[in-house]
Amino acid sequence: MIVMKFGGTSMGNSEVINRAGKIIQQRLEEGQETVVVVSAMSGVTDSLTHAARSAASGDDLTFRQIKHRLLSQHHQAVTECIQDKHRQRELLDQIETRLSELEALCQSIYILGELTARGMDAVSSLGERLTARILAALLTDQGFPAQAVDATELIITNDEFGAAIPLMEKTRDRARSRLLPLLAEGITPVVTGFIGATRDGITTTLGRGGSDYTAAILGQALNADEVWIWTDVDGIMSADPRLVEEARTLPQISYAEAAELSYFGAKVLHSKTIIPTQEADIPLRILNTLNPSHPGTLVCRETLQNERAVKGITAITDIALTTVEGRGMIGVPGIAAKVFTTVAREGVNVLMITQSSSEQNICFAIPRTDVERTVKALEEAFAPELTRRNVDRIWVQEAAIIAAVGAGIQNTPGVAARLFNALGKHGINCLCIAQGSSKHNISIVVSESKYEAAVRHIHKELGLDEE
Ligand code: ASP
Ligand code: MG
Repeated sequence: MIVMKFGGTSMGNSEVINRAGKIIQQRLEEGQETVVVVSAMSGVTDSLTHAARSAASGDDLTFRQIKHRLLSQHHQAVTECIQDKHRQRELLDQIETRLSELEALCQSIYILGELTARGMDAVSSLGERLTARILAALLTDQGFPAQAVDATELIITNDEFGAAIPLMEKTRDRARSRLLPLLAEGITPVVTGFIGATRDGITTTLGRGGSDYTAAILGQALNADEVWIWTDVDGIMSADPRLVEEARTLPQISYAEAAELSYFGAKVLHSKTIIPTQEADIPLRILNTLNPSHPGTLVCRETLQNERAVKGITAITDIALTTVEGRGMIGVPGIAAKVFTTVAREGVNVLMITQSSSEQNICFAIPRTDVERTVKALEEAFAPELTRRNVDRIWVQEAAIIAAVGAGIQNTPGVAARLFNALGKHGINCLCIAQGSSKHNISIVVSESKYEAAVRHIHKELGLDEE
């Protein structure tokens, strides 16, 4: 059995939806049991969240416009994908009902003037409910019986709206008892990605880009043989091809490498996708709907032998490198604790930390959007130290984190030297580095303006462009 997920760009218009349909039919013709997971049409989830936010801010026009746009977009997809007139009509009715729900939800958000995380999930989950129905109807229309299934029936989560965590035991029971009988009857389930429900049946979402995670959760729940993620690129690459022309597809990487790459900015896979597949040792393939014969990337237990130590280079941009600096910090216990308690109290995510052994500064990377309030909070917390000049200043640089990722880093000498060599040769200054917290990763912070060049030079220096 294979769980196959089609992303937003594979659902974006009738042409690609048809391609997805062909790919599924080919599997079914080979007699492979297939569970399908779909994302919303590309851009739809963004439109839905925008509708909800604008309603909360007192705008009762935008959500109506968005509703109309979504209606005509899905209407067009349906008329171009489904031949059977009766089926077409039925589907259009369902879509209209769903989008009237959107309008009603936004209307109440508008009246309340308040948008809760729970309300946001009710709205943002609508896109997948539409595509699952369209794809199921298309398959049925072409002679392959299929049924749309709302993941609210299958994936039971906690109530952390917007980033819900699945309760696996319950989910396993639900998914098996709902989906296995369908498969036994020869009906292909088409499941909404991204969404789940609490034990009480309240809709939750798994976080943006969460449809990949849905596929992995179902893969584990159903003991699938493999999980396939159909996207719009030929797998996971050695670098972002928009930055590095010579970037290559990685044929095979380990779960740990894939997790590290996706965490550090490779956008191909939702970072949590690895957790259920690794736990159940289910191979994961990343494939291209637009180029289906390409073998893509296989993510599994082992990385390829005799491969390079470094597999890929990623970058996280829009980082603020924040430094707490002071000659009076030397030997004073508790400074680091105070820094990070303050940051944690602000709810800010720290991406990387370094402290020099001279102890004159502690620096850490945070998302730039959080920097103002973080610095303000630090200045308040360290007011006494700033007055006493134990801490001289708290300052910020606009930066990007470059990460070199590969399982071989832990036992290959000279990797760091080659990275710094690549930067040094091209006059790129390294603001700070971290290695060791993860054996599979060396992270270097450079100024924002230099990150593209840094990725390119490192990619070349490490020979990642060579076969
Ligand atoms: N539609 C959701 C999003 O745009 C989930 C996904 O596409 O994976 O975030
Ligand atoms: Mg995605």
